[in-house]
Amino acid sequence: MPFASLGLCQPLQAAVAEQGYTEPTPVQAAAISSILRGEDVWACAQTGSGKTAAFVLPLLQLLAAQAPESPRPLRALILVPTHELALQIGRTIDLLGRLLPVRLKTVVAVGGVSINVQMLALRGGADLVVATPGRLLDLVDHNALHLSAVEHLVLDEADRMLSLGFSDELARILALLPGRRQNLLFSATFPPAVRTLAQDLLRDPTRIEIAPSTLLAETVIEQRVIEVDVGQRTPLLRHLLQVHGWTRVLVFVASRYGADHVASKLERTGIAVARLHGDLSHGARMNALADFAASRVRVLVATDVAARGLDIAQLPVVVNYDLPRSAVDYLHRVGRTGRAGETGVAVSFVSADTDAHFRLIEKRHHLSLERERIEGFEPTELTVPAGDPHGGVKGKRMSKKDKLRQGQAKA
Ligand code: AMP
Repeated sequence: MPFASLGLCQPLQAAVAEQGYTEPTPVQAAAISSILRGEDVWACAQTGSGKTAAFVLPLLQLLAAQAPESPRPLRALILVPTHELALQIGRTIDLLGRLLPVRLKTVVAVGGVSINVQMLALRGGADLVVATPGRLLDLVDHNALHLSAVEHLVLDEADRMLSLGFSDELARILALLPGRRQNLLFSATFPPAVRTLAQDLLRDPTRIEIAPSTLLAETVIEQRVIEVDVGQRTPLLRHLLQVHGWTRVLVFVASRYGADHVASKLERTGIAVARLHGDLSHGARMNALADFAASRVRVLVATDVAARGLDIAQLPVVVNYDLPRSAVDYLHRVGRTGRAGETGVAVSFVSADTDAHFRLIEKRHHLSLERERIEGFEPTELTVPAGDPHGGVKGKRMSKKDKLRQGQAKA
């Protein structure tokens, strides 16, 4: 299906072509016409599915259909959970709206940076605001922004927003919005809190569901699983960097501590590394991303919290140094690579302790991935197959005594 058939105006079609998009992604094909018709939309879509353009394109068209007033009343509000996502959406709006005959004004309003700059930017109003909930309310409290003219509301990554505890702030914002408006809700998962929000918010919505497994199947990602002992993961990572000559690698770890630990170990061997986790200031996170994007560092070590929603162009390799907690997180991580037709590799390190957990993730995604071993890094802490009369419990590490015995037997 070509973009032209979705009812988008010529300048938007040209902008899309300029970005090299030849045809709409499934979520775009399903959402754009509904949004143009003014319908509410409830979409299950992850980052990587093209969801940003799915709401940005039709919103730009609807907003550009009216000549701007002075001062500009805020007509479209996009709420997101993180600074990075807000900035990314701001950039997409600039790129896709570039060729419109009507110049629309967008302001990105996020915490962690001076509110004065944003207040100044909001002088004379704005057509679109992309914001995190807390900073939006601060701006409202400072009288820098009024929400009474909002015609379109987008909640992006609604599940994440609620899991990060934004529900009170959302409730305050919703109370300030006019009753008559278009609501667009995007969420990767639908936990009960999102369902309740959706039911309270949406009027007779168009429901769009892009199955996660389809997403994995459609993108060109090679998924590798390497068995390795916990203590050998950093040397193995260094080895892989060297033999494959990987130049841009996103490494996922489980905690902020883990991020610092792995990053320091790599740095000690002369590899340029940046860290991305929730303990860092906004500025430090932005610098880390900029360094990674500009290839000033080769490896970005990140936690899930910091990395979700990021869109990093040409990211060929993702490494699960620590496995993700859930199958959905696996999808989010693996989806960082192989985006929009690029090819990518996702490598997961599996140890005796985590093998059973990884099998559950595979089961959820109907995957059955081959286990690899790399010469020189073969695991010694073996998983003992279930039912082995000589073995212990499946997934348990060997005890020190057992290892000693095994060593003696080999000798
Ligand atoms: P998103 O899910 O919005 O984070 O988008 C993921 C990536 O897909 C971004 O890098 C977009 O530039 C890209 N993208 C969005 N729509 C398309 C399309 N129709 N064709 C190719 N790439 C796209």
